[in-house]
Amino acid sequence: MKNYSRYLLPLLIACGVCFADATAQPVVAATMTDLELTEAQDEAKLGDFIRMGLMPAVLQARQAGDFAREIAIDKRVVELWTSKHYKTPAVEDSKNTDLRNAYLDLADAQRRSGQYDQAAETYLQCNQIAVARRTGEFNAQNYQDPAGDLPSVAEAYKDGKHFDKAEKIYIDLVNLEPKPQSITYSTALAKVYEAAGNLEKAEEVEEGIVQDGIKDKSVAQVRSARNYLKRLFESQHRAADVEKIESALNDRHCPICGSEANVVPIVRGQPKDKNPRVHTVWGCLSGADDFKWWCNTDNTPF
Ligand SMILES: [Zn+2]
Repeated sequence: MKNYSRYLLPLLIACGVCFADATAQPVVAATMTDLELTEAQDEAKLGDFIRMGLMPAVLQARQAGDFAREIAIDKRVVELWTSKHYKTPAVEDSKNTDLRNAYLDLADAQRRSGQYDQAAETYLQCNQIAVARRTGEFNAQNYQDPAGDLPSVAEAYKDGKHFDKAEKIYIDLVNLEPKPQSITYSTALAKVYEAAGNLEKAEEVEEGIVQDGIKDKSVAQVRSARNYLKRLFESQHRAADVEKIESALNDRHCPICGSEANVVPIVRGQPKDKNPRVHTVWGCLSGADDFKWWCNTDNTPF
């Protein structure tokens, strides 16, 4: 087996020289000429080269705002992780994680640079790895989310104004079983409709979230969907609807027991004296935008 460590030091020096001069040609092209893949048969060394040689170069390019360079190096990292030199089962496992991270870096850089379609395609590659990991023999814990990288794919499509593609993905995600995240995806779907200028559809989705929340007695869900609707109505100058939603947001009837008998306003601050006519909380309550009331019967904010 040939040892290519003799390449490594000059390469790192070359990187350093290149970093010192922002106007220099990207180091990637030069190093790739030097790094003959046929020489790099040692998997550990190839990994070291990527981590110690290329990853810092990616960071450098990112900090300099040089998207072209960042994307070029990211692509090279992906190429190296997928190279035929990775073939043993032992590295196969960690390689998939490395490869997915490389795709994620690439996709994020593409999205930041405005290459939305390319970003969506790259996120799909991430997702393929996630799906393979979930269903294959390496059933790793961090690949268990059935949504995988699809939310990122959909967001990239939305950014690229491919609203129909984003819509399709979110509808699938909303209908995923089991669906602990369905509210998140419904809200994301509403935002896709809103971005597409289809405010009627956005309203319909959020109204559905309100109704589901009332049914499930999920006070945080109801309040955040109503806040969304309020903003939507305001953007359309629908004064009567704004007023209606505001009165729903201010309603002091407890959504759990339906009564206002034991309901007090929530105040934020330091609870000094125990005042039975208010419920004092430290800072903000977790999980909701802005709860206004506290029901002493149910010990719940809403
Ligand atoms: Zn109550």
